[in-house]
Amino acid sequence: MAEWRPRCDPCGIVCIVSIYLIIIYTDYAFINWIVLPLNCNLATLGLSISVFQLILILLVWSHLKAAVSDPGVVPHPTHGLDISAKQLLNKKDDNEDHNWSVCVRCQMYRPPRAHHCRICQRCVRKMDHHCPWINNCVGELNQKYFILFLIYTGTACAYVLISILLSFIKSKLDSHQRM
Ligand SMILES: [Zn+2]
Ligand SMILES: [Zn+2]
Repeated sequence: MAEWRPRCDPCGIVCIVSIYLIIIYTDYAFINWIVLPLNCNLATLGLSISVFQLILILLVWSHLKAAVSDPGVVPHPTHGLDISAKQLLNKKDDNEDHNWSVCVRCQMYRPPRAHHCRICQRCVRKMDHHCPWINNCVGELNQKYFILFLIYTGTACAYVLISILLSFIKSKLDSHQRM
């Protein structure tokens, strides 16, 4: 766990900066172009803005946790391993460890369902994929934060879409009443 460090991958850094610029712009556009033109009373205005800010805070929190958490890297062995064909054969015969495999890049044995990430250059337990949007692997230890990030992103999108729909309906009703 102590071996994991955030990656300095240029693509990942560009994606992370883009995410925060999108969040800031979305928040600005939501308040100024969707909520304020509705001309609701102060309580409704405050409630709709507060709920959106809460969703964004949860979204940022889950994103940061997914980005800076150890995804479950397999620690490097303290001593180099002999991964010759003979030793591999012996390892496969060992009933206790028969699901373990060898990573030739890390030069070590890795537990079942661990995979090597070419970007992180590490083996990660229960690795799902390497996500540039969090500049990190999605693995055993940060998967729940990644899923929460997706849920809050979906919730924010749904909230904005519903608000646009309500804004559209309200403008139609207002124009109908003026006629
Ligand atoms: Zn590896
Ligand atoms: Zn990775």
